[in-house]
Amino acid sequence: MPPDVRSVPVSTGSASAATTVAAIELRGVRKEFPGGVVAVHDLDLDIAEGEFVTLLGPSGSGKTTVLRLIAGFEQPSAGTVRLRGTDVTAAAPFDRDVHTVFQDYALFPHLSVLRNVEYPLRIAKVAKAERRERALAALATVRLEHMADRVPTAMSGGQRQRVALARALVDRPAVLLLDEPLGALDLKLREQMQVELKQIQRDSGITFVLVTHDQDEALTLADRVVVFSDGRVEQAGSAQEVYERPASAFVAGFVGTSNVLDAAAATAVLGRDGSWSVRPEKIAIGPADTAAPAGRSTALGVVEELVYTGPSTRCVVALDAGGLLSVLLPAGPDDTPVPDRGQRVRLHWHREHEVQLH
Ligand code: ADP
Ligand code: MG
Repeated sequence: MPPDVRSVPVSTGSASAATTVAAIELRGVRKEFPGGVVAVHDLDLDIAEGEFVTLLGPSGSGKTTVLRLIAGFEQPSAGTVRLRGTDVTAAAPFDRDVHTVFQDYALFPHLSVLRNVEYPLRIAKVAKAERRERALAALATVRLEHMADRVPTAMSGGQRQRVALARALVDRPAVLLLDEPLGALDLKLREQMQVELKQIQRDSGITFVLVTHDQDEALTLADRVVVFSDGRVEQAGSAQEVYERPASAFVAGFVGTSNVLDAAAATAVLGRDGSWSVRPEKIAIGPADTAAPAGRSTALGVVEELVYTGPSTRCVVALDAGGLLSVLLPAGPDDTPVPDRGQRVRLHWHREHEVQLH
């Protein structure tokens, strides 16, 4: 499926003319490494000005290579890279209005936070007083202005990550690329930084492209999620589209719990050909001897596993028709009774929640 192509009007500066120019445009981009590994296959992708896009996929699916191609650290074997309409395919990284934040932050350990953040301005020969002012403003956006004189080694992982972010934002690049930037943080801090990243992106209006293998992170942050597998785009769409309308078995399995009825089970349960997916929270569960409400799809099975996670219990049911379906039972003021392991149960769901996979 081709990626969703979006772009927004950008003033050309000439008279009253306006045109639509993507912040990033990849056309037929292919990257083959020596030894024959094709990391990226003929990729077409447009990213709009001010958009927050996440590249989601398993390790080795080509996400980092795509970022490096945009940043100019790699040259494509074929295809073109355009930034705001300008062909930069052959341009050096420093000739692109792009910054990258790496997972390991890449800060200078012996320089103060302020001097780390000032660094891009120093390279750009900005005068000292202005440098300081702009660096402090960038530190304020990540709420670290009070730590300007520290050195990074005397800071926590989350604080170092914020310094790296401030340094990347200080000269207001058109595009910020982030490669698993929260990967080294523990869960709580990661969730907090996700909220902050989203706010910083919204406030700055800078186009963000963030790579992650974490589906929650990808869905939480993005205006648009691009799901990669083996160097190809499997699907691109809003978090809701990708989650609720997965285009392939791969996306259904990688984004959310894999709840796939294979061809045999689909024939037996749904009376339809092909493979189908139903999300766990869309499935209701009850005793096997009760009838399903009219007009719904239904299947009988046995509870094979129960996983208690606090706010919900995941119930894995082995279907008589073959295969497993997970059912999510939320704990709430009116709890759905949780069945016992080994109990025979009836599952049912609305037909509109069945998604055909390709
Ligand atoms: P991801 O970031 O999704 O984990 P990468 O873009 O790093 O994936 O890698 C995609 C594929 O390209 C992998 O098979 C990887 O081994 C290969 N690859 C990446 N960089 C190089 C390189 N410099 N030389 C050879 N192969 C590479
Ligand atoms: Mg990577």
